[in-house]
Amino acid sequence: MTNSKIEVSNRDIYDALPETARTTGSTILMTGAFGGIGQQLSAYLLAQGTAASIIPISRRSPENSPINSYNLTTEVPDLKNIKNGENEPVKIDWIVHLATTCKVEEDLQMLRNLLQCAEENNISNFLYMSSWVVHFPEAYLHDEYIKMKRQCEQFLSDKRNLPDCIKTVQIIRPSVVIGKGLAWSNVLTDLSAIAPIIPKAFTRSFLSIKELNQTIESIINHNKISISNTENLQVLTLTLLGQRASLSEKAAEHAPSDIPSTIWKLIKPLFGAIAILLLIWSPNILGISREIILCLFAITYLLISFYQKILPLILAKISDYLAGFFYIRFEPETEVDILALVDCRNSNIRIRGYDNARLYFRNPNSSEYTTISLKKFNKILSVDTKKMTIRVQSGTHFAQLLPYLEQQGLWLDNYPNYHFISIGACILTAVHGSSLSYSFIADLVTWIRYYDRQTDKIIEIKRDEKDFSQVIFNTEKLGEIVILEVELKVCKRTYYRLTSEEKELDELRFDDLQNFVRQEQHYEVRVNKPYAKKAYLQSYEEISDATSKEGLLDIKADRIGSIWNVMQKNKFNSWLSSNITQQASINYEWFFQPEDFTRFWAEIRGDRQTYRMYKLLIRYNAKREDVNTPYHGTISIDIEIPVSRAMIECSKQLFLKYRPLEHQGKYSIEKNHIN
Ligand SMILES: Cc1cc2nc3c(=O)[nH]c(=O)nc-3n(C[C@H](O)[C@H](O)[C@H](O)COP(=O)(O)OP(=O)(O)OC[C@H]3O[C@@H](n4cnc5c(N)ncnc54)[C@H](O)[C@@H]3O)c2cc1C
Repeated sequence: MTNSKIEVSNRDIYDALPETARTTGSTILMTGAFGGIGQQLSAYLLAQGTAASIIPISRRSPENSPINSYNLTTEVPDLKNIKNGENEPVKIDWIVHLATTCKVEEDLQMLRNLLQCAEENNISNFLYMSSWVVHFPEAYLHDEYIKMKRQCEQFLSDKRNLPDCIKTVQIIRPSVVIGKGLAWSNVLTDLSAIAPIIPKAFTRSFLSIKELNQTIESIINHNKISISNTENLQVLTLTLLGQRASLSEKAAEHAPSDIPSTIWKLIKPLFGAIAILLLIWSPNILGISREIILCLFAITYLLISFYQKILPLILAKISDYLAGFFYIRFEPETEVDILALVDCRNSNIRIRGYDNARLYFRNPNSSEYTTISLKKFNKILSVDTKKMTIRVQSGTHFAQLLPYLEQQGLWLDNYPNYHFISIGACILTAVHGSSLSYSFIADLVTWIRYYDRQTDKIIEIKRDEKDFSQVIFNTEKLGEIVILEVELKVCKRTYYRLTSEEKELDELRFDDLQNFVRQEQHYEVRVNKPYAKKAYLQSYEEISDATSKEGLLDIKADRIGSIWNVMQKNKFNSWLSSNITQQASINYEWFFQPEDFTRFWAEIRGDRQTYRMYKLLIRYNAKREDVNTPYHGTISIDIEIPVSRAMIECSKQLFLKYRPLEHQGKYSIEKNHIN
């Protein structure tokens, strides 16, 4: 057998049984080796030399098989008779378990029997082929298959179920595997006839058999080098999403011939030509008037448009609730599930916290990407009242955290006006509030635990460590690292005395804002429009030992922030407000060095025709003694513009002129219109 040979028959698998064993490759006991994936995987592993031999275990082994048939739901395979060239029992390195009955109890029994076989034959490594369906939300699917995969994974993840000899359990969750002769490829071939009328926006994940084979190969090879020497048991889980692709395009690729799409291409212009001819000649077909014929054409056109354009949009909107076919979003609740999904092999994913990027910042994830939102990874882990810290999972947001802290008589020195922002997002994006001592939420962070996708490592880092400031607001790390847990400094429950002041905008000087605001604890300036006459200055004094709450605020949030917080609590209101906002306006926030801000402000104030900006919120983000980033020591301005070509162009020109830092959690002029 040569190494380059990939496509082989069952016969080749037998040819490679122990008699022809290579010394470098692993010996693998494989269930499901005669199935679609099993055959191609065996052939690949043998051809690559990763497997020296593959011992197929099957309920119906072919007659020429040197291995007996075993029904794994009732029997434990007896491997004593399998000998190598020197007539010694073969040392098996891996069990690769692909077979399934799709039934919970029977599949669990298969696992028990295989693990007993592992124990009897001292096998150290176990690879279980699960499925990405384990990520699908339970509420909408009650499929036996999903239940079975979940329970089998749970069984294998419980160390009490594993014999001592097992050192590695690798669970793989592939999405839809396509390849020659595989079930999904056949479905695509069937769909190819209607490929041209499948809306282009219908996408789903496809994993090529090649990718799957290569991943399993690398796991087996990697394991040989690094893991097999360790004493500790490792249970590793990996979800393989493959690539998202348009179902229509994928189906077309699988067409036996290109006839349907050719027909469709011909029909489309024909359709338009007939409509024009009808207009010109106004024939009276079958006694039907020209108007009715035109109406029928218009209706048909609208229906096709609805099917091709509007229906996918509607489905995309409700995709959170659609599992399976159009599934483009996962909300994992455990670290294992997050790590399985964000593996760097899954290149077409977007990591999100609460996902305001999609809700409010015109940054929906295109259908080629799968969103991994951490909003359900939101447990409060511990509170230390001596150290005055709290540890949370990164999906925790302020609307959850503040009430929890209040119950303990605790609070935060700073938080944003809008509370539905995840703590994880506060590490990589410059989320801030009005405090001057702790301008950014990251200023309260004492410890972070994150996963680095490139190095495949979980890293813990304290505030006083050198690398801490390399992580904070580091735009290069967006998408590269995943914040898992965060520790924040807390304080005693505080109330606020608000002082509002109206000031002539002409009298307001921003160049000395930094000196002025030093006297305050929280400070922000609201201006309705750059050319308005008045500015509204708001400062909050913190009162932590109040005997009476009279005249004090429970929460510091301006009117707009409070309205958003109320809206976001209700799903319908949230949906409505996010849709209306996205249609009407764009919101971005820029951070300037004070002197640059003065120039910028003079420019936008000087031309009321050009700079149609609204709801401006100006803050000073003080420098800190301990950890500083380019965002510290800046003046920030939160800007709302109407969705118009002129204002986008104008924002682009301003950006190019002043090169401010952008709030990466909001709309980015640079990413959307410059790069
Ligand atoms: C109504 C409203 C009011 C707002 N008010 C304020 C305000 O007062 N002050 C302020 O500073 N901002 C404010 N914002 C902006 C807000 O801070 C950002 O949009 C923030 O990024 C949203 O958090 P999120 O959890 O939704 O992040 P997402 O939108 O989900 O993600 C934003 C970015 O952070 C990254 N990210 C998120 N979580 C993680 C993680 N765990 N690991 C790695 N990367 C991650 C994502 O990759 C993405 O690039 C407001 C937004 C809205 C909609």
